[in-house]
Amino acid sequence: MKYIAVTGGVVSGLGKGVTISSMGRMLQASGVKVTAIKIDPYLNVDAGTMSPFEHGEVFVLADGGESDLDLGNYERFLGITLTSDHNITTGKVYRKVILAERKGDYLGKTVQVVPHITDCIQDWIERVAQIPVDPSGQVAEVCLIEVGGTVGDIESSVFLEALRQFQFRVGFENFCLCFVSLVPVLSDEQKTKPTQHGVRDLRSLGLSPQVIFCRSTEPLLDATKQKISLFCHVPASNVLSVHDVSNVYFVPSLLKSQNLHMILQEELQFGRSLIPGLTSWTVMAKSIETATQEVTIALIGKYNGLQDSYLSVIKALRHASIACHVRLNLEWVEASSLESDTAEGHAEAWDKVKAAQGVIIPGGFGSRGWEGKIIAANYCRENKVPLLGVCLGFQAIVVEYCRNVLFWEKADSTEFDENTAHPVVIFMPEIDKETMGGTMRLGARNTKFTHKYEDGSMSTAQVLYGGKEIISERHRHRYEVNPEKVEAVHSNGLLLVGRDESGERMEIAELPRAVHPFYIGCQFHPEFLSRPLAPSPPFHGLILAAAGQLDDYLKKNMK
Ligand code: GLN
Repeated sequence: MKYIAVTGGVVSGLGKGVTISSMGRMLQASGVKVTAIKIDPYLNVDAGTMSPFEHGEVFVLADGGESDLDLGNYERFLGITLTSDHNITTGKVYRKVILAERKGDYLGKTVQVVPHITDCIQDWIERVAQIPVDPSGQVAEVCLIEVGGTVGDIESSVFLEALRQFQFRVGFENFCLCFVSLVPVLSDEQKTKPTQHGVRDLRSLGLSPQVIFCRSTEPLLDATKQKISLFCHVPASNVLSVHDVSNVYFVPSLLKSQNLHMILQEELQFGRSLIPGLTSWTVMAKSIETATQEVTIALIGKYNGLQDSYLSVIKALRHASIACHVRLNLEWVEASSLESDTAEGHAEAWDKVKAAQGVIIPGGFGSRGWEGKIIAANYCRENKVPLLGVCLGFQAIVVEYCRNVLFWEKADSTEFDENTAHPVVIFMPEIDKETMGGTMRLGARNTKFTHKYEDGSMSTAQVLYGGKEIISERHRHRYEVNPEKVEAVHSNGLLLVGRDESGERMEIAELPRAVHPFYIGCQFHPEFLSRPLAPSPPFHGLILAAAGQLDDYLKKNMK
């Protein structure tokens, strides 16, 4: 196993994840199997209890792990399936060591950060690197390790010390350290000082980077590369320019154009030539540039202050737009602004919804904006505007239908009104009310398509899923549509076309094609499985409908 560890300096949010994913993509394009580990130096065991406002979205893994959103970037870019163990946090490492200490595993010893915590980190990395992450079931050849945070943080120092020791454990020929830095431009001059300081911090910890990736707005000048080379103890050829490009899918070829494959071939002694073939990826990146038709989608959210809160949703919309060859124009709408005419930004919010060709109501927790989501669902249903509701958005679709079509005026979710006369969305019986971390219905579960139209044709959702009878998607919820109300909703026209394998839990609802062009809700989160070249079916459906391409698509694909 060869390891490429990537640390970052100067500031966070540099695009370390994109740089690493692109490096992985480039290696895969050279026939190298890769896996990825993300290290998060915080004390939370996982990201499940962290606010999306503070930390961006919680990415849900197939095994139900609630992880940092970078694991989503790896899965999307590299087409791999990671496990919760691929996200190492300080909380997880300390928990493991402390539990072992209580069991008596270290009997007689003083348990210390060095060597016990650092050994635990190294063992963890070695073990997880061996887990197969693609359908071939084979172990990867290269493991990418991203160290979150920036060099110099107190939190990350124990992980950097573990990596310093790790070089000796696995051999220097199997370990390559990279550093992602920022090169700001001031008065037209590319400034190298922040990079110099970052590398100096790293070297004071006994680590010396072999490759430096410089994030900048413009391509790095040769003189800048020379200067960084001189001060940071790396050859100028190993200082790479990762300047802004029009879309992130160009980054793998940007790295290839600066011979990163040859640098890694040498640093990691591959013993064979790496020749990246990135054609399909580059064709896709170029097709994004040539799309002319614009499609406007309104996202009715509540964590709009930080766009990373909806990262996978946005990616899924983008992947679907690539497949439809349209340019996505995303409008952010605060759900609570739609509620009453005295709400802040009310008129603007409605202008955006009315101008959109499609609407998405994503998942969420808590009551703020809930009524706004229901109002948006109502608007889309009555005005035949394509709508996709995900998780809480799906629950809003069902509550809206019960209130306004079944005339159960007070219909609600017990998440927001515990004593409602019409509890149409209820707390799932198996969920723990006391412990919040890792106790939701989480991860990959199957959904069976259970509905055919009178003429025998499949539901729109099933056609979008390629006519499969059973699909697997990822979940993250505590509430569900009340099984006792399902038949009433279904027989009154909001069709429940997909259910869980017990047949009781409702997974997908849609309005008949004869009634509405596209109105679908799903309890699961399809966004987590969307890939640049394989868009998530419900998102694909939304963009097809918004772009006026859905009828043709259905005609072609309906069996
Ligand atoms: N709050 C809702 C539930 O727990 C929806 C969750 C979500 O959208 N992820 O069921």
